[in-house]
Amino acid sequence: MTTGGCAEVGFPIQRGGADLHSHTTASDGMELPRDNVRLAHRAGLEALAVTDHDTVAGIAEAMAEANKLGIHLVPGVEISTVEAGVDIHVLGYYVNDRDPVLLERLSGLRRTRDRRNVMMTDKLTELGIPITMEEVVAELGRPLADGETVGRPHIADALVRRGVVQDMREAFDKYLGASGAAYVNPPRIRPHEAADWIRDAGGAVVLAHPVLYGSDELVERIVYEMKPDGIEVWHSDHDEQDVQRYAALAQRFNCIMTAGSDFHGARQGKVFHGQLGSRRVSMDTVNELYQIAERRRLT
Ligand code: AMP
Ligand code: ZN
Ligand code: FE
Ligand code: FE
Repeated sequence: MTTGGCAEVGFPIQRGGADLHSHTTASDGMELPRDNVRLAHRAGLEALAVTDHDTVAGIAEAMAEANKLGIHLVPGVEISTVEAGVDIHVLGYYVNDRDPVLLERLSGLRRTRDRRNVMMTDKLTELGIPITMEEVVAELGRPLADGETVGRPHIADALVRRGVVQDMREAFDKYLGASGAAYVNPPRIRPHEAADWIRDAGGAVVLAHPVLYGSDELVERIVYEMKPDGIEVWHSDHDEQDVQRYAALAQRFNCIMTAGSDFHGARQGKVFHGQLGSRRVSMDTVNELYQIAERRRLT
């Protein structure tokens, strides 16, 4: 079956269920891991995935809170990769957050990320906007814990604070986005390598928010090569047509269809990318991902 049945692919569910994509202060989210879990509980979610960029540093705290509140925490990670010069994000679910090999691999990605951040602030300084990563980190207002990552949204916050730009959008359009004047993208691993890392750590692999890669031809090539278990069909940046297209793609490649808000909390009063719980899948989908991961752990 190719596109048949996709006409009926609507918003999956509106209450209960799982939001499979959220960020915390372990990366560029604004809420502590335990607070994401509290918000999920309040939103009536049965399950929440914490998927911070290149780190599992928020998982233990989120898990402890989820156990207290009786909601299911899906331990996750969102790995930064590059294909054809485009940033591609690969989600891993049910990875073992204590797997030494995974931890070492993620730590390598964080070193690349730290170098990239300094290259960006150096470029900003050259552009007449003097700013250092030490300042960006100091402005977090809390010490950075082991394994926590800093990213472009934090640099954007610093630009807003200095009055260089009005808001996040202007910060990314003018400076930090792919066409921005201070954008740098150092070599990183490719999507299929991230998929292998996730499988090695006993996890299930999902391609995040395909619409953000700007080319469905590229998306197809990536899916063909990395063979993910799922595709994030519902995402805060996907409109109804994107959902239809990526649902068709998921069916064609026999992938599970997942949903995630990509909640990052609020910056300057605006929630990025969507409110927690605004994209949900049923617990059956969560269970499918769990089964895939469990089979991988046993082999
Ligand atoms: P990084 O991982 O440091 O490269 O930063 C990537 C993050 O930047 C993404 O997870 C988004 O949350 C955020 N981001 C990217 N583009 C935009 C945008 N145009 N507006 C707001 N946030 C963005
Ligand atoms: Zn982010
Ligand atoms: Fe992402
Ligand atoms: Fe994300």
